[in-house]
Amino acid sequence: MKKPETAAILDQKYIWHPFTQMRDWIKNKPIVLERGKGSIVWDERGREFIDANSSIWTNLHGHNHPKINRAIRGQLSRVSHVSALGFANKPAAKLGERLIRFAKPRTRFSKKEPNLTKVFYSDDGSTSTEVAIKLAYEHARRMGRSRKPRFLSLDGGYHGDTVGAVSAGHIDLFHKAYSGLLFKTDKAPTPYCYRCPFNKANPERADARDYRKCKMECVSKFEKQFIRRSRRNGGYAAFIVEPGMQGPAGMIAQPKGWLSKVGDIARAHGSQIIADEVMTGLGRASDTFFASHDAKIQPDYLCIAKGLTGGYLPMAATLTTQEVFDSFLGEYSEFKTFFHGHSFTGNPLGASASLASLELLESNKSQLQRKRLAKNLKDLSKPLWDLEKVGDIRISGCVLAVELVRDWKTRQPFDLAEQAGIRVCSGMQKLGVLTRPIGNVIVVMPPFCTTKQQIKKIFNALYKSILVGL
Ligand code: PMP
Repeated sequence: MKKPETAAILDQKYIWHPFTQMRDWIKNKPIVLERGKGSIVWDERGREFIDANSSIWTNLHGHNHPKINRAIRGQLSRVSHVSALGFANKPAAKLGERLIRFAKPRTRFSKKEPNLTKVFYSDDGSTSTEVAIKLAYEHARRMGRSRKPRFLSLDGGYHGDTVGAVSAGHIDLFHKAYSGLLFKTDKAPTPYCYRCPFNKANPERADARDYRKCKMECVSKFEKQFIRRSRRNGGYAAFIVEPGMQGPAGMIAQPKGWLSKVGDIARAHGSQIIADEVMTGLGRASDTFFASHDAKIQPDYLCIAKGLTGGYLPMAATLTTQEVFDSFLGEYSEFKTFFHGHSFTGNPLGASASLASLELLESNKSQLQRKRLAKNLKDLSKPLWDLEKVGDIRISGCVLAVELVRDWKTRQPFDLAEQAGIRVCSGMQKLGVLTRPIGNVIVVMPPFCTTKQQIKKIFNALYKSILVGL
């Protein structure tokens, strides 16, 4: 009798993986992950790994959490899908109320910021930003702010893979191939301090690693861009930004004060603000629950995805204001409806998981875990600075990134084709730690429940893999 094919064989035979050179993928047998508990995952052979990448930045509270499992199971026994086209469902309605409460800033902002009052559901990070882009475009037109609204986003910005989101992105490696499909957006300088274009990171300086002493010349450039656009074309419709830290650009942590300064400029020029908190939100890369709030900004559109369900199911939300909502109201025959939606919009299983996840996030235990994790990441990563190939270590809340370079003194990057990041991550894999690089940047972003011992193991594996692999 023919032996059944294993998952690894079936995968290599049939599956096309995202962001993956499939010619390389089929060279080695893939790891087939089968079980998870907390920060640990096991493959089908029983090998144990620490999930140092939180299942591509989605998992907040650990795998197989009893509370989230229970919430999904409870809903499963009632109904798994209710179409949002024509019907309401209990978990999605309850989650709407909870999200609006959750997205209220916990401290009072001195300046007047908008109130978020409405929730539009979608499926993932890309669709949450796509929704925000479409709403901001149409809202700007309806308010007479611009006939042809233009968006501004950051160099290295990434907002997803749908065509609108790609248009707002500025990572050539991912986006250039599709330029013919995209609408034009403008690019603003990113505060990539380690490679500061204003020479504040000059390695010859005695304080080479203390490059954050600067007057934020990049902000002045940003302001000039707004002034130019306002004079000629009535300003930008919206500024779209990953607050606190630009993830796929290589975990570029924004220096303190940068976001509130650019936010003020955008507001002063009548621009709407879209906060893409797909990666940073829900306590991942902030002191509060949203990196925008750390900078005392409440955006007009708040995009939440990845961790919304605790990383268990695909579900996303775009929160917006009453003003935006109202601009889509009218008589049926005026056709001012927001013509957008997905089959799984407001899915009750996803909404049940999200309710459980938000409840966990607000618990004292989770807040303590986040504080401990942030401290452990900071403290236990220090020995990495001794390595010649470590150029920069960037931290934002519970996210840490290590930028690998040929030599820290020159900051010369590895050529991408050398696969420095991939080599280091495969070394870590052999030592029982899973993560995925962004080019030459190694990401350490484990679930909040990760213990001090586990963090030690992650950094030991990283240290050894840099020494041996580069
Ligand atoms: N925005 C940001 C900031 C992201 O990091 C990502 C995904 N890495 C997305 C949007 C797209 O999210 P998704 O992959 O869930 O579509």
